[in-house]
Amino acid sequence: MLLSIDDALALIEAHVTPLPVEEVALEHAYGRYIAQELRAAIDLPPFASSAMDGYALRAEDAPGRLTVVGESSAGSPYLGGLRPGEAIAISTGAVVPAQADVVVPIEDVSSDGEQIELASPVLPGSFVRNRGSDMERGDRILDPGTRLGSAQIGAAAAVGLATLPCRRRPSVAVLTTGSELRRPGEPLAQGEIYDANGPMLTAALLTSGAGVEHIPAAADTSEAHRMALVQALEHDVVISSGGVSVGAHDLVRSVGRELGVSEVFWRIALRPGKPLAFGVRGSTLVFGLPGNPVSSLVCFELFVRPALLALQGAASVRPAWSSGVLGAAVARNPHRDDLIRVRFEGPDGSTVLVPLHGQQSHQIAITAQAGALARIPTGTGELPAGAEVAYLPLLSF
Ligand code: AMP
Ligand code: MG
Repeated sequence: MLLSIDDALALIEAHVTPLPVEEVALEHAYGRYIAQELRAAIDLPPFASSAMDGYALRAEDAPGRLTVVGESSAGSPYLGGLRPGEAIAISTGAVVPAQADVVVPIEDVSSDGEQIELASPVLPGSFVRNRGSDMERGDRILDPGTRLGSAQIGAAAAVGLATLPCRRRPSVAVLTTGSELRRPGEPLAQGEIYDANGPMLTAALLTSGAGVEHIPAAADTSEAHRMALVQALEHDVVISSGGVSVGAHDLVRSVGRELGVSEVFWRIALRPGKPLAFGVRGSTLVFGLPGNPVSSLVCFELFVRPALLALQGAASVRPAWSSGVLGAAVARNPHRDDLIRVRFEGPDGSTVLVPLHGQQSHQIAITAQAGALARIPTGTGELPAGAEVAYLPLLSF
């Protein structure tokens, strides 16, 4: 029995030690994961402030005529007193004086410059942003392991933090293997193909917070594999592609073993992706992805991305499956879960999953037209159209 997807994932997670924490300047923190909880060190806003341009006054003075005795503008508070029957001009974001309990928008007031006239009563508290009404000092803003997007970085800046504690980015070596590989842009000789996996995995790594080093593609000799792997093993993570099957020229595992990589598992109950190999050397995680590009992509999303997130201390690392409905019947595989390439169809464009024609593991160009990978669990017979299945969107990868 081959290892299930979930058991393989659990084994990988068991070998991850989150990377050390460093302070990261906010301008570099996008996409990182905060290592500790974030609490507000100040009240936010730090003072009662105006939500509108208008006049600050006592609500009990409306309706009526009031004398304008000064101004509070953003960054320049009004320092005088405010007696009954008095108002100050105020701008958005300016301090509301302690004696005032309401801001009346400029549009609701008639003014002759020195006096204002309020025709109707006003509700105390209107258009005043109370001190601490966003967060009070000591309140929790972010949980550990939260991904830092724009709003999270904005919140940290709003409470005055210039840096945030984040786990180090994993450094990842991408190593493609195969004597047949040429770099895109070069001419192809007979029997050669372009290296699709190198650029594809690099792109996938860009969206998983990793720093990437490219190792030149290794030809199918032990010597070339050794040189490439020695260099790659200096990193937190090694991602190789190709050379993990049973062919005479599949050398990644044996050379890895020679160099001290201890294999945790090889082969899993997944199509495409069965030959996936995973091992460790010290704290370095070593993923031997299959060479077929679709297999490489699927294994990256199911196993490598979660490992990279776990290294960064992300709160949630496992693939986020959604639920959809098959648009056509699909034969089940009795030995492995199938991750088929589907496109979205249906009036809402979201949840009807239509299998693409061309489900073989070399068909990366067809996969480029897919919206998602749908998971067809191991079994016999077929899943009928209308059956509910889990899917993983591909668009954001
Ligand atoms: P392998 O596991 O090395 O036998 O590779 C399986 C299949 O994937 C073969 O058809 C290879 O030519 C192909 N392949 C391996 N590496 C790449 C790559 N980097 N880009 C595109 N195809 C590849
Ligand atoms: Mg090969």
